[in-house]
Amino acid sequence: TQKGSDILVDGKPVLWEQIGGLQTVKLQLKQSVEWPLQHPEAFSRLGLPLPKGVLLYGPPGCSKTMLVKAAATACGATFLSVSGAQLYSPFVGDSEKALSEAFSRARMGAPSILFLDEIDSIIGKRSESSTNRSVQERVLSVLLNEMDGVGIKVEEKTTRSGGKERLLEGVPSWSQAEFSEVDNSHVLVVAATNRPDMLDEALLRPGRFDRIIYVPPPGLEAREEIIRIHSRHMPKTDVDVRWLAEQTAGFTGADLENLCREASLHALSERGLDVEVITQQDFAGVLANLKPSVTSSQL
Ligand code: ATP
Repeated sequence: TQKGSDILVDGKPVLWEQIGGLQTVKLQLKQSVEWPLQHPEAFSRLGLPLPKGVLLYGPPGCSKTMLVKAAATACGATFLSVSGAQLYSPFVGDSEKALSEAFSRARMGAPSILFLDEIDSIIGKRSESSTNRSVQERVLSVLLNEMDGVGIKVEEKTTRSGGKERLLEGVPSWSQAEFSEVDNSHVLVVAATNRPDMLDEALLRPGRFDRIIYVPPPGLEAREEIIRIHSRHMPKTDVDVRWLAEQTAGFTGADLENLCREASLHALSERGLDVEVITQQDFAGVLANLKPSVTSSQL
């Protein structure tokens, strides 16, 4: 299959208020994603290097993907997503080609956010098998090269003396250095992983993924908010959302979304297709059969 076709360009907007809890993470993302994409000039005025890569880590189902989409929506950036597992191909050159293609599409749609989900599955710590190891090494080197040159289009020109000169496209020679800084802001790479310990250290050096943000599982208040968000269109009576939040320690956002869905299905199957409201009993009934994704050691 043509790997490049797996790149997802997703235009569906996500609003910050669709994500429950995570106030600190939202603020960190506004600063590290929205600011550089929307106001690169402020960074260059203050002599601040523009962040090129942001790494999100935390247990699955806790809205890493949604957060990045919300940041893209808020600053009107193109959102492209490619997962490590999709990129993986044992055929020599396929994975690297797909990754380079993702970068060139991101540059075409700039300002963009290129989201690399499950990055550990393609660039984990040195793997045992030599086929996997060589794919990892080649993809890592493409990623680092692309990140070093994010947003810059290089033109090759022949000088009067017949030599070759590499220049940034459309930028006057006296401000090449300055423009390379500003141009870098146009594609920001955001990677996500559940296993930060599995990443190759080369990724975490300064100038690469040097903003690292933990996306925790939801606490009590956040669970209450998430249940409210996912049940807002459900006709309910007597449902005690606070009590549900108390009963769901260890549930991720995805688990809570599932709880709401299951409660509706429970109402349908218990009381038939004419059912009009979902009750506390429906929630309590399904809760007994659902298990939290996050174990206490991860909380
Ligand atoms: P994975 O690591 O499995 O890719 P993720 O951390 O990227 O997971 P998402 O795919 O963003 O998680 O979340 C899965 C779904 O769970 C979302 O589509 C959303 O409906 C729901 N969800 C997760 N966290 C929240 C939250 N804080 N508020 C509202 N909904 C949430």
